[in-house]
Amino acid sequence: MIDLANQKVDTLPSVGEKSKQDLAELGIETIDDLLSYFPYRYEDFHISELTQAKHEEKVTIRGRVVAQPSVRWFGKNKSRMLVKLDVEGMIIHVIWYNQTYLKPKLLNGKVIVVSGKWDLYRRQVVAERTVINEEEQKRLLGRFDPVYSITNGIKMGWLRKLIYQAFAAFGSEIPEILPKELRNRYKLLPRAKAMYYLHFPKNRQEYALARRTMAYEELFLYECKLLWRKRTQTLQTTGIAHSFAEEQVDQLIESLAFPLTGAQQRVVREILADLKKEKQMNRLVQGDVGSGKTVVAAIALYANYLSGYQGALMVPTEILAEQHTDTLQKILSPFGMRVVTLTGKLTAKERRERRAEIEMGLADIVVGTHALIQEAVVYKKLGLVIIDEQHRFGVKQRAALRHKGESPDVLFMTATPIPRTLAITVFGEMDVSTIDEMPAGRQPIDTYWVKKEMWPRVIRFIEKEVTKQRQAYVICPLIEESEKLDLQNAQEVFEQLTIELAPIRVGLLHGRMTPAEKDAVMTAFANNEVQVLISTTVVEVGVNVPNATVIVIYDADRFGLAQLHQLRGRVGRGGGKATCILVANPKSETSVERMRIMTETMDGFVIAQRDLELRGPGDFLGVKQSGLPDFKVADLKEDGRILEVARQDAIRLIYHGAFATDPAAQRLLTWLQQEQMETDRLD
Ligand code: ADP
Ligand code: MG
Repeated sequence: MIDLANQKVDTLPSVGEKSKQDLAELGIETIDDLLSYFPYRYEDFHISELTQAKHEEKVTIRGRVVAQPSVRWFGKNKSRMLVKLDVEGMIIHVIWYNQTYLKPKLLNGKVIVVSGKWDLYRRQVVAERTVINEEEQKRLLGRFDPVYSITNGIKMGWLRKLIYQAFAAFGSEIPEILPKELRNRYKLLPRAKAMYYLHFPKNRQEYALARRTMAYEELFLYECKLLWRKRTQTLQTTGIAHSFAEEQVDQLIESLAFPLTGAQQRVVREILADLKKEKQMNRLVQGDVGSGKTVVAAIALYANYLSGYQGALMVPTEILAEQHTDTLQKILSPFGMRVVTLTGKLTAKERRERRAEIEMGLADIVVGTHALIQEAVVYKKLGLVIIDEQHRFGVKQRAALRHKGESPDVLFMTATPIPRTLAITVFGEMDVSTIDEMPAGRQPIDTYWVKKEMWPRVIRFIEKEVTKQRQAYVICPLIEESEKLDLQNAQEVFEQLTIELAPIRVGLLHGRMTPAEKDAVMTAFANNEVQVLISTTVVEVGVNVPNATVIVIYDADRFGLAQLHQLRGRVGRGGGKATCILVANPKSETSVERMRIMTETMDGFVIAQRDLELRGPGDFLGVKQSGLPDFKVADLKEDGRILEVARQDAIRLIYHGAFATDPAAQRLLTWLQQEQMETDRLD
């Protein structure tokens, strides 16, 4: 068999030096690249079912001309021609702009084919392509032409032909990847056929079958890779086997001001079990905003301490570092633990002192921002690393902390719940725990969406709440990442409210302030010396001031759903009935939809799912951060079911030795082994 991945494209006679370079620009260097350069859409000349067509959908129709064309001129060169067409008994209008040369051919009674956008309300099509010749109609109709993304040097027709030639020459060399049993079970096509149909489907059925086959294959391969890596990690027993008495941990839990929720208890047990194992823990805790992740972190850190190790807690902002330090101190210092903070606001001297404490082992827990990894922090005996709000960190930052010390256990926490299908893809290598229960007594947050015209009434509402001893956040957005504009915006609102709400005290918080300034404002707000806090999104993650019961989000349409949900989570944290007001005059349909979703649900998982649907997985996670693979055919928005099935099958192959006699499966395993050796070498 020929290895198509090593076969250069210029083995095809029609590829010369110039076209070889043009193809390379598209990332096509080998025959394998060429065969899997799939079209991103198809030119489709099927007659559409007009009664089913949606507004603005592109349609192709065939109908009989039933009246003379009427033409209107605008000046010398511009014209609009209208024809009444009988499409299976339905009379519609077809409009042509500046194509009066067609007029003599549009005779009464003539059957023509037209494609263009369907205007459902006016019952008309604006013609983009017109085919009057009967022979040509026959030739075109029912055809699917692949459309590839191309650069200047390459012509569509040429590329189509080239791919066709490549199939003729090498199609029989395309290796099977899927075990036969799986192909049979899901009625999938042989690989060569699926790839061919994906380029040149004769009809929708062929396309659908090919897409399903390739999507499954892609996801199956991906899961195999993930699981293979995970399995090799499991076999390496390089982690720390923590040893502690669970009764002592229980004492800490009993000392808390509240009983743990069932979900918190379950997740705590999962973490404790991981700590005891010799294998390095790699676990993600996902839990909605306010589900109580901090206390779970505290318990894990205590168990780690009982085993004789130091712990580190990394958070995305200084404010959060301060707050977590407070929380941990309250819970853990009665048990003899010493918590220190490492942030940017320390003086050089303080920083040296803290680093010394850490190095000598006097500090049991270090809480900090990415200062934890950036600086030359040396731990005496680091046993557990917790990364809070992990989605705020890049892949590299996360990895860096993991590699401090000797394979410490690692726990990630996130309040951005990820729909299940994405979770198993992005976090395929991690174990996932979910806190899917809120502490008792939480009331839903009343969420309203109002137009900007209501702003004066919103201000009166804030005033009313503050007179009831409550506190409020007013969030102003970042505009185009411009700190300057952002600041002005928050600044303006601050000035306005300072005047309008006097004598109520109003504070201002934004990313351009020094750490000390931020800290001062935040402390004042936490102590209720400031009642209304105007802020940019620096309070987005984690901040906990239970007495704040109102959050107003100005220009709310500028935020994504996940962010809005995070922001809303700053209120309703145990301080009584809470309200969230979204102030926005959204311009697009999707922004309106986002406002609606926010007013309809409080469930972070539902919101995440809707967000995924609105934005697609790439934007949803921010591809760079997420480590989400770029699939060629599969689409996680639609193929969630396939993904789950593919994962189950991959588990059978990797863990249970299934398909042992299948040559395709054996080839796949060999390939996985080689891939693994390759990545190990690169690490
Ligand atoms: P998040 O999961 O968003 O990080 P936090 O850990 O900040 O949430 O917890 C939110 C609030 O809920 C805190 O004030 C915390 O003390 C409180 N809390 C946590 N667990 C419970 C519980 N089981 N019962 C009651 N209140 C709880
Ligand atoms: Mg938190």
